Amino acid sequence: MSLDRALTLHRNYFGVEPKVAVFAPGRINLIGEHTDYNGGFVMPCAIDRGIWVVGRIVDGESKLMSDSAGPGKSFDASNLDRKPSGWAKYPAGMAWVLTERFGTMPNIEATVVSNLPMGSGVSSSAAMELAFAKLFQALVGFESDAKQLALLGQKCENQYVGVNCGIMDQMASACGRKNHAMCLDTRSLEIEYAPVDPSLAVVLLDTKKPRALSDSAYNERRSQCEAAALAMGVPQLRDANLEQLLSKKGELDDVTFRRARHVVTEDARSMAFKQTLAAGDRNGIFALMKGSHDSLKDDYEVSCAELDAMAGAAWLAPGVYGARMTGAGFGGACVALVARDEVEAFTAHVLPAYKQATGKDGDAIVCGIDDGARILAI
Ligand code: ADP
Ligand code: MG
Repeated sequence: MSLDRALTLHRNYFGVEPKVAVFAPGRINLIGEHTDYNGGFVMPCAIDRGIWVVGRIVDGESKLMSDSAGPGKSFDASNLDRKPSGWAKYPAGMAWVLTERFGTMPNIEATVVSNLPMGSGVSSSAAMELAFAKLFQALVGFESDAKQLALLGQKCENQYVGVNCGIMDQMASACGRKNHAMCLDTRSLEIEYAPVDPSLAVVLLDTKKPRALSDSAYNERRSQCEAAALAMGVPQLRDANLEQLLSKKGELDDVTFRRARHVVTEDARSMAFKQTLAAGDRNGIFALMKGSHDSLKDDYEVSCAELDAMAGAAWLAPGVYGARMTGAGFGGACVALVARDEVEAFTAHVLPAYKQATGKDGDAIVCGIDDGARILAI
């Protein structure tokens, strides 16, 4: 078990017992891609893979160890403006946002163990943020709810780490619920939990091509969305529908129009998905997930040959209910919903077909849907 691995690694590396242990899950997004920074709708699930952290309060500087990334740079919780380089930015950034909100955080000694692939679209970064939020909470005892910790995690990533992400990943890692998808309104942060039929498996199809949405491509899309919202006279694209967008077509250049068309149609698909999933409507699920992929590929232009090959293989595989690229794009993973008793036949079709199309070995991970970030007993 990964908690045991974290405890053993901590004892071996630091030579002492940690005081507390926490877990924060990664997430997989069923539908609603590139809508969260437009105030729109998404439908992620927290998964049964994530990041375990064990630790204790220490005098002197904070010291870190990770099973997958090695020792982290040390930092001083009383001087966080001196930013550490590398992955220590996540714990230091959480100390920074928590200090601003709850008063000075202590220095820590902490060990990280993860079974989340990094940069594959399951948001290891949000899991790091929420894990350290819970670690500090377990050590210091401040009062905070899951939503507030999600917002602080996003602030850490935006302002300390320097990645301009939306709120979906942190909300999913903080507020997930076992066997439920979260229908999340990313503006109000209201969540409606929707049960996922246990006869369906959520499968992550990793292309093994590292996700590479460069900052410039991401920021460019964000400003195209803002320009389209401005042209339509709405605060965000979440406030527009396809009809309104079509009526402004003449005022927008073709690229901006297509970016906006992805976002408004993706919001509609995301909202329709809740009922479709609840009804177990196989054709409906297939069409909405394929519609999402095609729109991300053609209108938003964030897919790539590997993601298209993986989704294309999944659409033809036995047991498939639906499949699409997930995450920011240009690599990473697809998500598929698959009849649980046909998962083996599904992966036996998809992985060889993917290899034949791309020459690459992909990977299929069946994910359970789990609760959000939590303090563990040790
Ligand atoms: P993702 O899509 O997985 O969120 P990001 O690039 O946003 O990809 O975040 C990945 C970064 O998070 C890594 O480069 C590293 O700094 C940090 N990280 C994730 N998992 C770990 C880990 N187990 N140990 C140390 N750092 C980690
Ligand atoms: Mg991330």
